[in-house]
Amino acid sequence: MLRQMVELESPSDNPAAVTRMAEWVADRVSPYASVKFFPGGKFGKHLRCQLKLKGAQKDHRILAVGHCDTVWPVGTLRDMPFREQDGRLYGPGIFDMKGGVSYFLMAVEAIRELGIRPWASVSLLLVSDEEVGSLSSRPYTEAEARGASLALLLEPAMGKEGSLKTARKGTGIYRLKVTGKAAHSGIDFAAGASAVSEMARQVLAIGQLTQLDKGITVNPGVLRGGSKGNVVAAEAELLGDIRFWKTRDGQAIVRKLQRLKPHDPRCRIEVEAALNRPALERTAAVRKAFQHARRIGLELGLDLREASTGGASDGNFIGALGVPVLDGLGAVGDGAHAIDEHIIAAAMPQRAALLAGLLTRAPGA
Ligand SMILES: [Zn+2]
Repeated sequence: MLRQMVELESPSDNPAAVTRMAEWVADRVSPYASVKFFPGGKFGKHLRCQLKLKGAQKDHRILAVGHCDTVWPVGTLRDMPFREQDGRLYGPGIFDMKGGVSYFLMAVEAIRELGIRPWASVSLLLVSDEEVGSLSSRPYTEAEARGASLALLLEPAMGKEGSLKTARKGTGIYRLKVTGKAAHSGIDFAAGASAVSEMARQVLAIGQLTQLDKGITVNPGVLRGGSKGNVVAAEAELLGDIRFWKTRDGQAIVRKLQRLKPHDPRCRIEVEAALNRPALERTAAVRKAFQHARRIGLELGLDLREASTGGASDGNFIGALGVPVLDGLGAVGDGAHAIDEHIIAAAMPQRAALLAGLLTRAPGA
């Protein structure tokens, strides 16, 4: 199953290829699910599967979330074919995140064959644009997640030990533009107002907004300015990224950036700053969901740990709705987005069993 999924290459920027991957999943689950496609705009279609599992309780709802898109262009298989070596399986997108999607299907098919009842109704949402920011899928993800009892994110696990991700940083972006006044640096230096000098002071001020102890970073990523060595610079621009563990810290940074004032009153500052993903915060509900997963893991001989990461996922959107999120339930492996992307074969049945446990054992039971 996983091999077939990996060999359906599905880069985010190739909507037809991503949609083919979603259609493959839709065919696979069609004997036991009702499926619906949502338009993806310039991306592939998003897929929702509502599973028809016997005995599922209707008053609770579990949403599993994954993505069909990968970062690998069509043709990558030529250099990076699906292969097994030393207990590892290699291939484009196998770790992020076709492995996780296949484990979920294995879990569902196993409990279906064994006639074990899930404690909630179960649906699976697979989006087409996660690797490029989930702009098209976000409203569908939020609509599906709202009111769910638990969200299972099939993203890769953390580290060799396969830790779950119970906190993810939120992200924001900003752009700062300084407009000064151009002048000849030899003839009329004092008549100019250097946007580059002003920007240099702003970069230092922005550096002060980073608080490593709180996990707040404001990265000055790209800096451009001026035109010639002998011209007092009329313009400068800075692009950067904001990361934070708590959404309100991110919001406070956005307000601080918007309040930046020029040191040289002849310069003008324009700021565009906004959050694009809220933080996935390790709330009491998330901690409780993790404890539940940990108990199920222990019965399977898995000593599950929790971890946090500076990278965001669709779990960030869902956590912000107040839904308990378990993220990193997918493959154990390494090399996401890298040439040695692989998963550990021996962990496959464990991860599928963990998912099956989460579907069949109610929290608190
Ligand atoms: Zn992913």
